[in-house]
Formats: sequence, structure tokens, C-alpha cells
Amino acid sequence: MAIQRRQRELLRIQSRFQTGNGKSFLRGYNESYCKWQRSRFCGRRKVGLTEEQIERYSRHIILEQVGGVGQEKLLSSKVLIVGAGGLGSPAGLYLAAAGVGTIGIVDADKVDLANLHRQIIHHTSDVGTEKVKSAETKMRAINPEVKVKTYHQWVKANNIRQIIREYDFVIDGTDNFVTKFLINDACYFERIPFSHAGILKFYGQLITILPGETTCYRCIFNAPPPAGVVPSCSQAGVLGVLPGVIGSLQATEAIKYLLGLGRLLTDTLLTYDALEMEFRAVRLDRNPNCPLCGKTPQITEFRDNDECQPKQ
Ligand SMILES: [Zn+2]
Repeated sequence: MAIQRRQRELLRIQSRFQTGNGKSFLRGYNESYCKWQRSRFCGRRKVGLTEEQIERYSRHIILEQVGGVGQEKLLSSKVLIVGAGGLGSPAGLYLAAAGVGTIGIVDADKVDLANLHRQIIHHTSDVGTEKVKSAETKMRAINPEVKVKTYHQWVKANNIRQIIREYDFVIDGTDNFVTKFLINDACYFERIPFSHAGILKFYGQLITILPGETTCYRCIFNAPPPAGVVPSCSQAGVLGVLPGVIGSLQATEAIKYLLGLGRLLTDTLLTYDALEMEFRAVRLDRNPNCPLCGKTPQITEFRDNDECQPKQ
């Protein structure tokens, strides 16, 4: 019955938009939402969405699973993106558009001409400028009310924990194994959930990790491979649109986590083969022998490891 009622409601919304009454419907919706907001807080404190926010986020608010309360949650949330490159580009743009209130972005690099075929947050006119500044400009152009915090530096063992502990969720948009392990370990010790992803050539993968609760990166890969064994994107190449697909999925996971929606991609590595257009979900349970989160961990404290100096 509930489903039928919802379907009827959706049909009603659809027909209003089709007959050109969408604007007036939304206005009516806004009024009732504002009334609900007022009754909810009874004048105790001035919070809630402004008229402009209700309009900007109307397609979110109209979703039963998001609503005004969910949008407020997003606006008060903080997400850190490590790497303003191929993965960080779509993630940053979508998180800003979605109204995630504070977005941190870390990268010590400057925009290079060879970045532009995939790092869509940067434009040709940005070549030579700091990637974090270029990313900040685009995110704020999409949504000026989003606070962007820039870190023009690499994450290292001696700074990463202080940076990530300010955030609710971390997106790993880096392109080297040493930093991926560093993010995994730092998030474990700070208990910050994060989305891991990797891309190369025509292939991508991602997994969401709730440290201490679900399979971590070390459960799967144990330790970084020796330097030079696995080629990087700059050595082996990457299809430009590939990080667009994977980075967008990372943003989806961040938003789902912040809103408490659906099933997260935990204990499951999602792989994507762009040539075959094939997604595969590989179930991976926690590894009892994991050196970090296993039964007898060898890594018992966060190490200031010289290996953890990323070279990107
Ligand atoms: Zn583990």
C-alpha cells in the first residue's frame, strides 16, 4: 500500500511538472517545508534551509530518502578529498553541487597540460596554477555557499592524522600505493570512514572502508608493492573518462554515508572494465591476518615511515 501511495504521489508530481505547474508545486512544497521547519524548531534557534537553498536542492529534497533533513545533514557535513586529480575532479564537483558544507582538498601539485584529458575540474587557463586553488574556484563557482579548505601539500605520516580528523569522510583520489596505504592506516587510527579507489588504463576499482568494522585496504593487499612493479597512469596511460566514472561512484558513497542511505560498498571490491563495459562486485571479508585490523596486528601504532613520502 505504501508503495502504491508513493507511486501515486510521484505521478502527481510528474503530471504537475508536465503541465507546467512544477514551479507552483515547488513553491507550495517550499511553503509547507518552511512551516514544518518552523514547527520543528519552535523558534528556539534559527536553522533550516533558506528559500534559495530549497530551490537549489529541490531535486534532493523531493526524494523521500533525503528530504529537507537530509539536505541539512549534507550542509553540515565535511568531506576531505586527497588528490585534486582525475578521481578528485568529479568527486569535488558533485560534492559541491550536492551541498556538502565543507570540502577539504589536498594536493601539492600544479595543473599541467597533460592532466586536462581527465582532470575535469581544471581548465586550460589553469595550467601552471596550484591544483587546490583551481579546484576551489570551480567548486565555489558551482556552489558559492560551500566552504572549501585547501591544503597545498602532500599528505605525509607527520601531517595526515591532523588533517583527516577534522572530516566525516575521506575520499582517496591519489595515484600511488604508498599514499593509499598511508590513508588506510591514518583512517584506521582515527576511525574515519573512507572510499578507496584506483584506476589504470581501462580499469578501475573501489571499496568503502569503515575502519575497524569492515575489510580494510591492508586486508586485501597487505603492503605496498615494491617501487616500479606496478606502472602508474603516467607510465601506462589511462582512458580520460575512467576516473569520471570511478570518482563519481566515490562521491555517491560519501553522500550515502553522510545520509545513512542504502548499502555501502563495504566488504566488496567493485571493479570496472571499460573495454567490456563490465562491473563486478567481489566479496572480500575481513582478513584475520591483516597486519592492521587482524586478530594479532603487527601495526599497532601509526608509523612515521620514510616510505610514506608520496611521489606523484
Ligand atoms: Zn584490515
